[in-house]
Amino acid sequence: MRHLWAGAALLAGGLATAACSPAPPRTASAAVAGDCRSASVTLAFDFDGAPPMACAVTGERAFTLLVTPEHAPPINPSPWYAFRYIADGDAPVSVTLRYLESGHRYAPKLATDGGWRVLEAEVSADGKTARFDVPPGAGLVAAQDLLVPLQTGEALARWSKTSGAAVFPIGSSHDGRLIEAIRLGRVDAPRLVVLIGRQHPPEVTGAIAMEAFVDALAARAGSLGDVQVLVVPMLNPDGVVRGHWRANRGAVDLNRDWGPFTQPETRAVKAWLGTLPSGVRPVLMVDFHSTGRNLFYVQGPDEATPAQAAFLARWLGGKEEAFPGYPFTLEPRNANPGSGTTKNWFHQTYAIPAYTYEVGDNADRDAAAAAARALAADMLEALAE
Ligand SMILES: [Zn+2]
Repeated sequence: MRHLWAGAALLAGGLATAACSPAPPRTASAAVAGDCRSASVTLAFDFDGAPPMACAVTGERAFTLLVTPEHAPPINPSPWYAFRYIADGDAPVSVTLRYLESGHRYAPKLATDGGWRVLEAEVSADGKTARFDVPPGAGLVAAQDLLVPLQTGEALARWSKTSGAAVFPIGSSHDGRLIEAIRLGRVDAPRLVVLIGRQHPPEVTGAIAMEAFVDALAARAGSLGDVQVLVVPMLNPDGVVRGHWRANRGAVDLNRDWGPFTQPETRAVKAWLGTLPSGVRPVLMVDFHSTGRNLFYVQGPDEATPAQAAFLARWLGGKEEAFPGYPFTLEPRNANPGSGTTKNWFHQTYAIPAYTYEVGDNADRDAAAAAARALAADMLEALAE
C-alpha cells in the first residue's frame, strides 16, 4: 500500500515547498505563480505529475479545468489531470473538468493520509465534462494514483538494497532526466529478461504491477541461476513529470519508436543491449501498461514458434482466473510490421516471446500487485523448464 501514501506525502511536501516553510499554512496566501484563485480558494499545478492546465474561475468556490493533450491529435485518449488546492472556509469546492480530444476516463482521486479516495463525479452524457466536489482544506487530486520518478527512485533503491545490485543510468531523457535501470542476477548469466515500464505516463496501474513484479524478482536475485533481469521502470520520466497523456518530451509515443529509434529514451535501451557480451542474449521481454481491463498482448499463432507457444503456456496458460480479484485474458496479436511497439521489436529482433502486460485502469491495486508477485515467481519457473 506504500504507493497509495505517496500522494499524501507529496502533497505535504508540495505545500511546504510552496510556502517556503516546514509548517504548511492552510490559507490561500500560500499560492504560487501559475495558480488559479478566488478570494478563498487556490488551485495550483506546481508539482511533478501536474500538467499546466488552463483554469477558469467560475465562482468563488467553482473552477473549470481544461483537460488537453500535450500535442495535436491524433493521440491516445488518456486524459490526465492533476492539481492541488487550498480552500479556506467550510464549504466544498466545485471542480469541472472539460475534455478536449477525449472524454472522461479516469475518476478523480483525492490523496488522503490513508491512500487515494475516489471522488464521485457527475459525468455528462457525451463524456465531455465531469464535475465533482473537493472537501475544504488542502488537498491533491489526480486522474490516477500519483506515481512519479521520486517514487520509482525509491523502488529502485529498495530493489538495490534487497538484491545487492546497483542502480545505474542507461541514458537520459530530452529534459535531461536520467533513465535509470537495475540488473538483477549475475551479469554473465546468459539469459536476459528485459522489463520495461512507464512508456505511457497515465498508465499507473501497470506501474503498480511492475513494482510488485520486480519486488518478487529482487527477493530472488541470489537464485536466478542462468537468468538475469534488466529492469527499466521509468522510460518516459519527462512525460510523467509534465503530466502528459501519452508522449515523451519529443511529442513521440515511445511505444511506436522501437524500430525508428528517433528518441533518446528508446535509444538508451537499444544502446545498452548493444553492449551485451556475445554470451548474453535476451530471452523474454515484458512491457508494462494500462488499459480498460487486465490482459496480456502476446504473439499470435502465426508468429509464435512452438518453443515460444510452449513458454506462454507454461507461464500464463490456464491462469486467467487464478488470481483473486485479478482476472485477465490472453490476447494473441500478430505483429503489425513496422508498428514500432516494444513487443514487436523484441519479438522480431531476437525471435523471443515479448508481451505487453496491461493492467486495467480500475484494477484493484492490491489484487494487481499480488497477482504480479505470483506471476514473477511463475515466470522464473517457466524459464527454468
Ligand atoms: Zn500503454
